Amino acid sequence: MKSRILVFALVICLLFSLTVFAKAPADGTFEGTGQGFGGPVKVNVQVADGEITAIEVAEHNESYGIGDRPLDIMSERILAAQSYEVDLVSGATYSANALKFAVKDALDTAGIEGFDAATKTEMTEEEITTDVVVVGAGLAGISAAIEAKLAGSDVVVLEKLGRIGGNSILSGGIVCATGSPMNEAFEDDADDLVSYYQERANGKADEELLYYIAENSGDSIAFMLENGVEFNEDIGLGGTSPRQRLHSSPSRGAGIVLPLLEKAEELGVEFMLERPVTSLISEDGAVKGVVSEGRYGTLTINAGAVVMAAGGFDADEAVRDMYSPHAQGAIPYTSKGNTGDYIAWAEDLGAELYFNDGVVGIRAVTATAYLTDSINLLGWLNTIAVTDEGVRFSSEAADYPILFTNMVATGRQDFYWIYDGVTMPELCELAVERNVGFKGETLEELAETAGMDPGTLVENVERYNSFAGGEDEDFGKAGIVALADGPYYAIRVRPATIGTMGGFVTNTNSEVLDIYGETIPGFYAAGECASGKFFDQEYPSSGTMLNIATVFGRTAGINAAAYAGE
Ligand SMILES: Cc1cc2nc3c(=O)[nH]c(=O)nc-3n(C[C@H](O)[C@H](O)[C@H](O)COP(=O)(O)OP(=O)(O)OC[C@H]3O[C@@H](n4cnc5c(N)ncnc54)[C@H](O)[C@@H]3O)c2cc1C
Repeated sequence: MKSRILVFALVICLLFSLTVFAKAPADGTFEGTGQGFGGPVKVNVQVADGEITAIEVAEHNESYGIGDRPLDIMSERILAAQSYEVDLVSGATYSANALKFAVKDALDTAGIEGFDAATKTEMTEEEITTDVVVVGAGLAGISAAIEAKLAGSDVVVLEKLGRIGGNSILSGGIVCATGSPMNEAFEDDADDLVSYYQERANGKADEELLYYIAENSGDSIAFMLENGVEFNEDIGLGGTSPRQRLHSSPSRGAGIVLPLLEKAEELGVEFMLERPVTSLISEDGAVKGVVSEGRYGTLTINAGAVVMAAGGFDADEAVRDMYSPHAQGAIPYTSKGNTGDYIAWAEDLGAELYFNDGVVGIRAVTATAYLTDSINLLGWLNTIAVTDEGVRFSSEAADYPILFTNMVATGRQDFYWIYDGVTMPELCELAVERNVGFKGETLEELAETAGMDPGTLVENVERYNSFAGGEDEDFGKAGIVALADGPYYAIRVRPATIGTMGGFVTNTNSEVLDIYGETIPGFYAAGECASGKFFDQEYPSSGTMLNIATVFGRTAGINAAAYAGE
């Protein structure tokens, strides 16, 4: 009996000491890994005297400017809360989760407990006053903030997400401009650009606004260059125009947004993240500030002027279906914060809104958040494309918004890009593995696996092949190369949107107009949220939106500062 009691006591002691050992945080630095958007995120977590004292991100492959900043924000949150159970950074949840789980992994592996207490953000109620408040920290908002600050205003930028940059930072970083310091040879090109845009808008665009963006586009590039943005030397072609106007940043959208952000911060612009604007303050028809209600509580900002730069509305499919219905069913490939919150406020304020069922339409294989998923390349190569009934419907080489229009015009939702066995076999196999591709040894077998009528697919492919080395009698595509031998692959491709056209109606001062065509005092808008009057349904050329955002963002900033200073 005695010995049983002794054994029992020893077991209790051992368990107790193990528990104590597991709970007492050991000092040291511990490695952990989480899975991010671009691969593993590795951290070194330093623990001393029962506290997490440092989190070092040792390795990551998150997107430049998009996923990397949230890693720092999460580290700060965890350090402040002494718990990894903190709120994720909105708009960057993949990367934020990776950091959280990397820290958890480091602590778990070291057998350290006690850093998982549920945390709650303190909610406060605050009221401040400033000269200019900017809603949205995309390219239009940052450009406005820089100019307003340079004009002497105090500027606060409120951003809904936990990261800067909206669609601008996700973008390809292509800017369409004429007469820039890099393409001075085209200095007299504004008229041609305006006619090109007007033709693509079927005559529906506001010509005064078009001239404004064309004539100021070169200056947009100069503004970017002065503020540290770099562009590739080659100026590219855009849309169906034969003129070279596309300036492209080697680091895509981040290469434009981040240098400008740095400039704005250096000037003293205040950026407040995860502060969604939820209503406007107006008095006697003039806009006097904004209210933000969110995870930090209520913030009221009384301001001399407000610049709306809140982007498009396709992140909310219901809103997109209402104002751009022809894009119904397309994959929204857009920044999560772009939900058109301002549409309701505009109506309350009596501001004029204009929608023409427009979207920036592209196509995509997968619905993953970024187009950089390599598998999406399969929707862009120059092979034969058919509907899910096996019918060819367009020149596959058409500019992407035109191809989007042609896809939508078929009334089908699913399309297949057909590959032979030699063009991209590895990527095609990956697509099959990820259930976005089908495979068949023959075209008939492929059609059956993918649910197409074999006779229709074979007939369409044979006709396409017959145009090789000659003329495409159906859609005028140049340089057709016949499909080689099997196996064959059908990669499922869907229409997608990367932006919308529509929103506020503004004049060349970026002043917002009301339903009677009068300006609304103290209220300015720029970028995608005020882009309806430049387009019809179809986007005319890469680079147009970033130029509009910069030209009108800057104009809004200058005029808002002047108004606020009156
Ligand atoms: C993948 C992709 C590639 C693209 N490539 C190009 C390209 O190469 N060239 C080109 O010209 N265009 C391109 N575009 C389109 C272009 O990026 C956008 O049209 C442009 O960036 C719009 O700029 P913006 O400042 O108006 O809006 P955004 O950059 O989207 O910024 C709007 C900001 O407002 C915030 N916001 C929204 N509501 C609120 C609220 N209630 N309170 C506070 N903040 C709010 C959003 O979170 C967002 O951060 C691309 C778009 C995508 C998605």
